[in-house]
Amino acid sequence: MTRNKTSYLRRKYEEMDEQGETWPLKQLETASRARPVVEGREVIMLASNNYLDLANDVRLREAAVDAIDRFGVGAGSDWSIAGYTELQDELHDAIAEFKGTEGGLSYQTGFSVNAGLLPQLLDDGDVYVSDEYNHGSIIDGIRLSPADSLVYEHSDMADLERVLRSARSDYNRIIVVTDGVFSMDGDVAKLDEIHRLAEEYQAMTYVDDCHGEGVLGDGHGITAEFGLEEEIDFQMGSFSKACGGFGGMLAGDQHVVDFAYNTSRTWLLSAGYPPAVAAANRCALEIIDEEPERVRDLWRKREYFQSELEDLGFDTGAGETPIVPVMIGDSKTAKEFAERLFEKGVFALSIVYPMVPRGGARIRNQINVGLTETDLDEALRVYDEVGRKLGII
Ligand SMILES: *Cc1c(COP(=O)(O)O)cnc(C)c1O
Repeated sequence: MTRNKTSYLRRKYEEMDEQGETWPLKQLETASRARPVVEGREVIMLASNNYLDLANDVRLREAAVDAIDRFGVGAGSDWSIAGYTELQDELHDAIAEFKGTEGGLSYQTGFSVNAGLLPQLLDDGDVYVSDEYNHGSIIDGIRLSPADSLVYEHSDMADLERVLRSARSDYNRIIVVTDGVFSMDGDVAKLDEIHRLAEEYQAMTYVDDCHGEGVLGDGHGITAEFGLEEEIDFQMGSFSKACGGFGGMLAGDQHVVDFAYNTSRTWLLSAGYPPAVAAANRCALEIIDEEPERVRDLWRKREYFQSELEDLGFDTGAGETPIVPVMIGDSKTAKEFAERLFEKGVFALSIVYPMVPRGGARIRNQINVGLTETDLDEALRVYDEVGRKLGII
């Protein structure tokens, strides 16, 4: 009898499955849009990051098709070797302009900015000071660094100051790292206070704006919201969310950008994404710039949706962006809630342990500007029905 050496993974998987901690994959049968077809039914999409409904925008599609006509499909190589096109240069300039910084750079993904750059910024004897709710890619990036890390309680400025005070005496360089918009709760980092404390303790600042671009600061992100475009040392983000495209971005001083692409192993040792992606990404930045009403409409819709949910009796937690959580409590109920929503044509994600603490399970709604008021009212009607049936309201 041959022993299956990987059978321990089956046991682990089965355990996870029993705990309800595996991902049931759902297949899109159309483009990702406000009302896509998922598993044979048209649904109201409240589970995508496509806030500005640009993922299937005709202008992005045309920009991508034009780029394919000129440059083909694959980049052919890592950008560092033989895959860099003028479209990439144009995008880098567009990022800098959009973010109000000297330099701009694109990475393959947002994840690869954090996982590739954070390991390079600090050395032994330095320290990262990180919000406890920061994204997993930040946590991984910090783990790969020779520097130490200290964690402060979520958005707790007194705790940040306590940590900074002790870090100042124990370490050389300090970088405070924070998400701009926290993806599980939809709350916004207190970037003005973080910046002020960082100045006081001679620390640098690194902000992850993946859920802030296209949303905060008239679409330009959290540094624009706080007027700190030239103050935050490292600004990273993603084209895969409100921009509707794909890829990561970095904005900062030109020497930061030059250092970043010459040292990030993710940038140097992995293929560049296709030129068509660069063209679509640039197009998205232009649209956000030229159509501020799109961002305003997104905010109007999220205000409406959140206040109506609260009127129905739901607890929307700390949500203050187009991420609108509905707090449920235990994981099983949250999963059942999401399943019932889906059966009635509303697609929203249940977020359960270990993504959030036990007892903190919730449904995460993400507003897409392409949803009409009628769509939102229908979603609210379904929420009311399911909420009553499960005894949440
Ligand atoms: C989505 C996200 C990322 C990863 O971005 P991708 O471009 O999808 O790889 C990183 N950080 C935060 C906070 C995110 O929400």
